[in-house]
Amino acid sequence: MSERYCVFGNPIAHSKSPAIHALFAANTAQDMTYEALLAPVDGFAASVRAFIEAGGRGANVTVPFKEEAFRLCKQLSERAQHAGAVNTLIFRGIEIFGDNTDGAGLVRDITQNLGFALAGKRILLLGAGGAARGVIKPLLDTRPDSLFIANRSPEKAAALAAEFSEIAIPQGDFLRGAVDAGNMATIAGKSFDLVINATSASLSGETILLPAGIFSPGSLAYDMMYGKGETPFLQTARGQGAARCADGLGMLVEQAAEAFSLWRGVVPESSSVLAELRANLAA
Ligand code: NDP
Repeated sequence: MSERYCVFGNPIAHSKSPAIHALFAANTAQDMTYEALLAPVDGFAASVRAFIEAGGRGANVTVPFKEEAFRLCKQLSERAQHAGAVNTLIFRGIEIFGDNTDGAGLVRDITQNLGFALAGKRILLLGAGGAARGVIKPLLDTRPDSLFIANRSPEKAAALAAEFSEIAIPQGDFLRGAVDAGNMATIAGKSFDLVINATSASLSGETILLPAGIFSPGSLAYDMMYGKGETPFLQTARGQGAARCADGLGMLVEQAAEAFSLWRGVVPESSSVLAELRANLAA
């Protein structure tokens, strides 16, 4: 019998994850199914248990359950612990192991799909919510020159900067002082090689007012959000001099590829899947 996987969310009907994993499974000849499951807002844990009892082997978790999934897991990967959120569950008997593949997905999209090396770069991260928190450690692991976290509510950015500047990166160096924080006004006069929008402003069609001159020559603007056309943030960034613009569709595919390889022990080819999703989005 095919092994079962799913994504839990609420709402969930819009999810592209079943299509992505169906393509991965077909391309790697894996005998598995992957479905979108709507969990009641107050019934996430019960939905997970029911899925395990029905033979489920693993699951993805999306809005609004990533923090609850973190609390549910008996064992957590190091990156899930740093993120404070879980987007990938692996069921081992009745034990639930939690991981977070969002940050790895972002880094892989930027470095491999977009060919933009992060080592030595000045990175500006806009936002201090769950998505921002989840990518900070994976970004620091690429050994950038610096990371500035700017948020509408600067105290949240400052708390994140304080927490992550205490974390050593694997190769030994200590990045203390290179992680800084403020609000959108604080970045006036600075310039960055990579500007990542991890706010939810685009969801409501809003853009973020950025000071002039923050995009250095050759810079990349990256919006975690994606949609049919260019997002409001990317339109603004292009107008302010970003040399390259990319949305978060590649991050979505790459975080899925990472989850798939954790479950199945096979790394799926992702570029053709990304191209197919992009074509569907434009249609
Ligand atoms: P949260 O609700 O946790 O955080 C929202 C953040 O956006 C906060 O920092 C908030 O600031 C800021 N914000 C909201 N509205 C505005 C605005 N109008 N102007 C400036 N800042 C604003 O959301 P998440 O972190 O979970 O998600 C953020 C985005 O990332 C979403 O668009 C989501 O779709 C996307 N995402 C994409 C993924 C992908 O695979 N491509 C994966 C995960 C997330 P404040 O603190 O002041 O309220």
